[in-house]
Amino acid sequence: MNEIKTEAVNFIQKIIDKDNASGKWDNRVHTRFPPEPNGYLHIGHAKSICLNFGLAEKNNGKCNLRFDDTNPVKEEEEYIQSIIDDVKWLGFDWEDRLFYASDYFDQMHDFAVQLIQDGNAYVCDLTGDEIRETRGTLNEPGTESPFRNRSVDENLDFFNRMMKGEFGNGEKVLRAKIDMSNPNLNMRDPVLYRILHASHHRTGDKWCIYPMYDWAHGLEDSIEQITHSICTLEFEDHRPLYDWYLDQLGVYHPHQIEFARLNLNFTIMSKRKLKQLVDENHVEGWDDPRMPTISGLRRRGYTPESIRNFVEDVGVTKRDSIIDVIRLENALREDLNKRAPRVMGVLNPLKVVITNYPDGETEMLEAINNPEDPSAGKREIPFSREIFIEKSDFMEDPPRKFFRLGPGREVRLRYAYFITCHDLIKNGNGEIVELRCTYDPETKGGSAPDGRKVKGTLHWVSVPHAVNAEIRLYDRLFLNENPDKGGEFLQNLNSESCKTLSNSKLEPSLTDPENCTYQFERNGYFIKDEKDSNRGKLVFNRAVSLRDSWAKFLKQIGK
Ligand code: ATP
Ligand code: MG
Repeated sequence: MNEIKTEAVNFIQKIIDKDNASGKWDNRVHTRFPPEPNGYLHIGHAKSICLNFGLAEKNNGKCNLRFDDTNPVKEEEEYIQSIIDDVKWLGFDWEDRLFYASDYFDQMHDFAVQLIQDGNAYVCDLTGDEIRETRGTLNEPGTESPFRNRSVDENLDFFNRMMKGEFGNGEKVLRAKIDMSNPNLNMRDPVLYRILHASHHRTGDKWCIYPMYDWAHGLEDSIEQITHSICTLEFEDHRPLYDWYLDQLGVYHPHQIEFARLNLNFTIMSKRKLKQLVDENHVEGWDDPRMPTISGLRRRGYTPESIRNFVEDVGVTKRDSIIDVIRLENALREDLNKRAPRVMGVLNPLKVVITNYPDGETEMLEAINNPEDPSAGKREIPFSREIFIEKSDFMEDPPRKFFRLGPGREVRLRYAYFITCHDLIKNGNGEIVELRCTYDPETKGGSAPDGRKVKGTLHWVSVPHAVNAEIRLYDRLFLNENPDKGGEFLQNLNSESCKTLSNSKLEPSLTDPENCTYQFERNGYFIKDEKDSNRGKLVFNRAVSLRDSWAKFLKQIGK
């Protein structure tokens, strides 16, 4: 495991330090990551995970994993399992603290009864539309519900009958009795419970009333004795409501702290839209390597360390901003540069016959596994009379600045010899299908005893030893920096976001089952696609190209 960068002290840590100094929570730090299991986690969630688990880790505290499953929806099991896998994969541990909000339904119900008894909640017969219409606006107060002044007994009776299933969906709700003219719309008698005759993945048919998010969320944190309840900025306006509930009930009261969510350009982070991409087959699934989901990033070749370093690098603030996705890609480059063995893989092969090399002979040449990591050692690669080079490394009529191969030109084959091209063979369509070269046996290892220099060094693979592979080259899923531009994100999809090469040739070490992430020299970082590879077929996904685009970005911003 590579180390995670040391973090700068963020504003939340400063709050924790202050709390510890004053003994506010008896030096406890207890956070939680509370996903709603209605989709796969994405890179934005990774930020929340790293923040919550990271703060707990750093402060000798605890972090719970809590499924916020107050909404009965289908297919939750798949999402729950994927979330568990993703948080673990990122390297975090909730120990025995895996919770479900639905486990608290009884307690939440009892709290609601307490509010009713205290005259702080009432059963309302207005429809959803009527409630919205009477809520008022930012400039105008709302109007009080005609059911607002029901007696405690009447409310208790109705609430009980709601729970017993006497009413249909939407016929009645339980509302908090706060203030219809409060400048904060969230305080205008919000709904606590709605009737929904639907079974829940954990509680089955026990309930036909389900708590609203705003009612449930603060209670969950309170029940779990969370100290620092960290959430994204859009909940700032909901805080007074959470405070009100907890104060009325007189229960344990966590400190809610809001931070700016992660936004990335060229990237969609709404679960609803990601689900649409999956459901409408614009991608191959939640784990499609082009998806910003954690499972997609994993399949793309991202490492947990690269994601954690990226999140660290981006930092935690209270200001909304859009981060350049290049920073995410660069975090991966930095990490893989340290750990990925270098190998040779020819994506678009062109055959080269070395006419003066003995037919049928194979020699083993020494190659360095990772110049960034001497402990990675060396390996041997086979060389023979026939090799593949990259099509793009040859030009029949090259310009002067083209330092690769051309008729009469000499180049170095990485770890092997100098070769000179003498002839080329074309097929009926005029395409070049084979080159004829000679090699200089004196240049073994890549330098000439007479001191002559060559400018180009090409990667190559021996024909009889080559491993066939399918290579997938990915580009951004969206063409526009802001995928929502123009209102319809699907219209900004990049139709060429995945290019498949079916005839690539790799050096034989690539069949090593122990490793799956490599740098293909000059071509980028690649990961074996475990899902689509099998005995007969190796598939590699390009995780990220080499430095080019990052260097360009740095130049752009003047560094
Ligand atoms: P949706 O996209 O459906 O509104 P969500 O992204 O809020 O859902 P949750 O499952 O509620 O999904 O998120 C779990 C936690 O992850 C929440 O605490 C939320 O604040 C945090 N989170 C979600 N998106 C981001 C983001 N882009 N950046 C940082 N944190 C995020
Ligand atoms: Mg949410």
